Amino acid sequence: MLSFFKTRHNCYCAFCKSPRRIYRRKNISLMNILGSALASVVIMFALWQQYDPRVMVAFVVCLAISEVFVKIRWRLSVVCRVCGFDPVLYLKAPEQAASKVKEQLDVRRQDPKYLLAKPLNLPAIPADKAKALQDKGKGRLVSRSI
Ligand SMILES: [Zn+2]
Repeated sequence: MLSFFKTRHNCYCAFCKSPRRIYRRKNISLMNILGSALASVVIMFALWQQYDPRVMVAFVVCLAISEVFVKIRWRLSVVCRVCGFDPVLYLKAPEQAASKVKEQLDVRRQDPKYLLAKPLNLPAIPADKAKALQDKGKGRLVSRSI
């Protein structure tokens, strides 16, 4: 029952398996709508000091701002902070997602702050499969070099 009210959700990264928390909501909730209504009433009294039909415009603008905010918050929380894996981008463009993970792992390799950190639990490729992939010229294997 309590988990229904939690805004964040515990899960694991699909790539490096590190534990993480992501925001549950992708869209605005009833609370955001009520907040937008309250904000637009406050704006109405601040601007016109009485009831004004233009409050509806302010309400729609507040709704749009909160929807954009909730969407951006969810989108940023979905990306793994440890390895940089982005599941949403992976569904659209797997190559771009792979290059982002490579960039993040290169940054991690060069940053001295991670020298003594726990190594990442990256997916391993069996040696014979890795050799076959490298023979095909598919590029450098990230998980072999970390
Ligand atoms: Zn990760």
